Amino acid sequence: MHPLIFASNNQHKIEEVSAILKPFGFNVISLADAGIHENIPETAETIEGNASLKANYIFNHYHFDCFADDTGLEVEALNNAPGVYSARYAGEQKNSEDNINKLLAELESKANRNARFKTVIALILNGKEYLFEGIINGRIATEKKGEKGFGYDPIFIPNGYEKTFAEMTSAEKNNISHRAIAVQKLADFLKLKK
Ligand code: IMP
Repeated sequence: MHPLIFASNNQHKIEEVSAILKPFGFNVISLADAGIHENIPETAETIEGNASLKANYIFNHYHFDCFADDTGLEVEALNNAPGVYSARYAGEQKNSEDNINKLLAELESKANRNARFKTVIALILNGKEYLFEGIINGRIATEKKGEKGFGYDPIFIPNGYEKTFAEMTSAEKNNISHRAIAVQKLADFLKLKK
């Protein structure tokens, strides 16, 4: 098995991505399992930049093949905000409830509620960097609906659906999500490298 560090400590993401990459002979290792406990900087001004920064940080310090992801919600009427600042939109407390309330307030007077989730994965394999992008288009609901998922899920309605991500089962969401699209592109690329 080819070891690949995933620069994340989100257990849910790690299990999801591990299951997808294992059949292709890649053993996904979390930061904790690699014994890496420091805070990795996320100071770039774009989603791509942050994914790249995290992957390069691990590669430059540990010289392991690795990948990192970064996700943001881009709202058309807000010039693509919150974007790279999605986690801390309402402040450094990084609270999803606060972020949702702020976004709903910002959109109160706006007719255009179009939005998209974007995930970028930066992979460093044999010292070369590759980027994979996953996008899902949709709209911001006028009120919160659903209890499942996390983050902005209760207010994001993907195109072609009349329910929010938070009203979907995880299987349903994972079938169409921004992250699933990016991970699938990563898997397709790694499959060819085997
Ligand atoms: P991260 O880059 O995966 O940490 O995501 C940044 C922020 O975007 C998170 O704090 C969440 O608020 C939001 N986010 C990321 N992925 C999702 C998702 O699948 N649904 C809803 N919100 C998300």
